[in-house]
Amino acid sequence: MPHFRRHSAEKNNRANNNNNLRLRKNDEMKTTTTTSATTRIPRNGRRIFRSRRPRVGVVLVVKNKSQSGEAAENAPKASGVDRSLNPRVRDLNESKTVALTDLARTLKERGEDVIGLAAGEPDFETPDVCAKAGIRAIECGKTKYSPNPGTVPLRTAICEKLKRENGVEYKPNEIVISNGAKQSVTQAVLTCCGPGDEVIVPAPYWVSYPEMVTLSGAEKVILKTDIKSNFLITPEQLEKAITPKSRMLILCSPSNPSGAVYSRETLEKICEIVTKHPRLLVLWDEIYEHIIYAPNEHVSAASFPNMWERTIVVNGFSKSFAMTGWRLGYSAAPEYFSKAFNMLQSQLTSGPSSIAQEAALAGYVELGDKGGAPVELMRKKFQERRDYVIERLRKIDGVAIETPGGAFYAFPDVTKLCGGDKGGFVEGFGPVKGSDEMCRYLLQEARVALVPGSAFGVDECIRISYAASDETLEKALDRITEALDPKKFKRSGSW
Ligand code: PMP
Repeated sequence: MPHFRRHSAEKNNRANNNNNLRLRKNDEMKTTTTTSATTRIPRNGRRIFRSRRPRVGVVLVVKNKSQSGEAAENAPKASGVDRSLNPRVRDLNESKTVALTDLARTLKERGEDVIGLAAGEPDFETPDVCAKAGIRAIECGKTKYSPNPGTVPLRTAICEKLKRENGVEYKPNEIVISNGAKQSVTQAVLTCCGPGDEVIVPAPYWVSYPEMVTLSGAEKVILKTDIKSNFLITPEQLEKAITPKSRMLILCSPSNPSGAVYSRETLEKICEIVTKHPRLLVLWDEIYEHIIYAPNEHVSAASFPNMWERTIVVNGFSKSFAMTGWRLGYSAAPEYFSKAFNMLQSQLTSGPSSIAQEAALAGYVELGDKGGAPVELMRKKFQERRDYVIERLRKIDGVAIETPGGAFYAFPDVTKLCGGDKGGFVEGFGPVKGSDEMCRYLLQEARVALVPGSAFGVDECIRISYAASDETLEKALDRITEALDPKKFKRSGSW
């Protein structure tokens, strides 16, 4: 019996209801659903998309910050209530990946024929041994508060894993297990960075990094990369960005969203530069480490000379062990930082789920190195899908893509389609400029939910998650190919 079970293929294939999908251009994503009849949404002051069908369904209402501010301003005020928010929270952006994933799910639940390729989660189920260990934990009453930094057996198992698989040594008191890697990243940023500090974040970045920096009060310094450098920063680029204020460099390999993997050579050079700056730390997010494709190999930044002292490793069980819903991640860092993460966690959430920890421990104990057979099965399947998706995308005129070395995302550059001053154009739809509009168009026209590259700081691209069944991917790529057919979609600069 396979350790991972695949979700069944999409069930809902109702009639084409795409007229009910609306996204507004150039905006931050905010999703709401409504059952009331929808009105046409103005675009650039014009009415767009006239449908003769009844407009009852789901609407993606997208507002940018100033619009939402205005709306709040004009809303009836409860008397005497000061609605002001902490500016650090007020200035945060909602995660577009979460918003789009939720939207795609809602649309599907409502019977819309939408394919969701926006989510950042494996479409495999948690390995049986982990799931069963979780059930056992409940049955045996392991349902009380866990120690704040996580259970000793799991922290010990994490240390053994880090030594065996990553060549880095930690003691259990240098591990803090949290409710997901997201929490570990947040705790690391909040603990180490504050006003007056700069945090270097290469773009494309995982959506949450810049927001966490905002929350900390530090300044983000975005290092933009592009397809020419395979979305990886160069050591020279880093060197130029470092100032006396630089406190942290956030690196993710394999990368979400580009799938790019730092080679040992490049990483070594980057680490050499980092070690010349005593204030500079590295947050090394290796949550996709097991989802990697030869000849790429995963190398831990903490394993380079003098890096252990200044590296905060973040990892988790969401991706490699297909445990997104269990909410379990961890950080590994020298005690002087881990102690503070632990203290912060004690005031935020306390220890992580006792049940999830039992499940993860069983994964380490029973599945062996790198998650054993079930993780390897999933990795291989992702690799096949990557090859398929890349091949299909390369056939679309104007789409450029590098082969991702890991994770489960394709991050094609669509500049030739929707870049430039005017963007592309579709009769009956209008101009399609930039990644937000491209995703709006593809959701409306192809009924495929993707994430705009703008969410990751690179507007030239869109992100396609290939964590979906072969049939779903085939159908999605058929639809995308059709929607981007040059006869229909006038390329940038050609109209
Ligand atoms: N880091 C990266 C790069 C991610 O993609 C994610 C999830 N999308 C996380 C951290 C957080 O993972 P979780 O909180 O589910 O452990």
